[in-house]
Amino acid sequence: MAQNEIAGLRGIKTVRDFELAGKTVFLRLDLNVPLSGTKITDETRITASLPTINYCLEKGAKLIIASHLGRPKSANDKKYSLEPVAIRMSELLNKEVVLMEEPSSEGVKHILYGNMKNEIIMLENLRFDEGEVENKTELANQWASYSDIYINDAFGACHRAHASIHAFPEMMQKKGIGFLIEKEIKMLASLTDNPKKPYIAVLGGAKISDKIEVIEKLIDLVDGFIIGGAMAYTFLKAKDIAVGKSLVETDKIKYAKDMIQRVEARNKSMLLPVDHVVSTEFGNTENKKITDSASIAENYMGLDIGPQSIKNFTAALNGAATVFWNGPMGVFENKAFCEGTFAVAKALAESSAIKIVGGGDSAAAAEASGYASKMTHISTGGGASLEYLQGEKLPGLEILRPRKQSEKVD
Ligand code: AMP
Repeated sequence: MAQNEIAGLRGIKTVRDFELAGKTVFLRLDLNVPLSGTKITDETRITASLPTINYCLEKGAKLIIASHLGRPKSANDKKYSLEPVAIRMSELLNKEVVLMEEPSSEGVKHILYGNMKNEIIMLENLRFDEGEVENKTELANQWASYSDIYINDAFGACHRAHASIHAFPEMMQKKGIGFLIEKEIKMLASLTDNPKKPYIAVLGGAKISDKIEVIEKLIDLVDGFIIGGAMAYTFLKAKDIAVGKSLVETDKIKYAKDMIQRVEARNKSMLLPVDHVVSTEFGNTENKKITDSASIAENYMGLDIGPQSIKNFTAALNGAATVFWNGPMGVFENKAFCEGTFAVAKALAESSAIKIVGGGDSAAAAEASGYASKMTHISTGGGASLEYLQGEKLPGLEILRPRKQSEKVD
């Protein structure tokens, strides 16, 4: 699909559209990696940022990298320092990454206007300054005082109107996206712009309430739903099937009932589990057993889908041409209850469909299954990808579109 055919990218420039040699590029990345102390436990977001960084460097740009990390309460919250990220980035790029602990305009200018050779600048955690979350112009002014071009490649942060995502590009003439956002939107477009049929959405995880908007969007797009995880119990309850002590959102039973009818009225399918892996308590593995039907006894709770459900789900996925997967089929973090989720990952790995995995827990589940590399795309932004699919306008993308005729993209 050519870029200009993708509605989500219409009017937005990419890093390729600018003359970068000798220019200072402010590159907003999503380097919000999980840390255990100072150890990075998953560097996917760092490696996903490398293509744009390398491109800017090859073209001769002076690079300033900026990102948030976690939710620090103040600038003294040093456990949220980007230092481990700067160290790892430096190893991966074989360049010096100068972490600016005081990212005031003066400090950065001092380095920029010096003899910058084999180094790049990384600003310390943007959220150390409360102006970031508050979308403050003052902060954006500082960055604007030394930047020629603004590039956003932080897909996971595009749904937030923060200073580095919104106020800053709003004041910049030269602005666009990097390769990661371009890829994310192209991949998500394969789920919304004439998706290949049959198209199946596999939904799971803890709650329906988090996913209602995306279900609403998908109901007209997909040919069928596969529903697992705790979400499935609210649907089973809506069909008057006993679910014991399983997690149920009682205030969503009515919604689930309506949804079942709406899916049927559209002649679409909705597969629910027909058996379960259950236990008496959440983390209990001693009393674990498999039910022989969809109903669950009073003192048990469903923690994974059962073997017959795995067979049914796998068979349905075999015929799909497009699959969107969001949410695990059970409590996959516990080895005793991971089989259903991993079986879905395996079915997708073996299918020739376009298979797109939402971020967050679904990305972690795909990773834990060992089949992550077999997916067409795993989004780096959980919240952002769901909001995009729901049809919401992401502030970080909207601000990059030309607003006046005079700003038209050439
Ligand atoms: P979500 O963020 O909504 O995708 O939910 C992911 C979480 O749902 C994971 O941490 C799973 O452990 C949890 N989960 C999946 N299935 C169940 C279940 N049957 N009972 C309780 N929690 C579940």
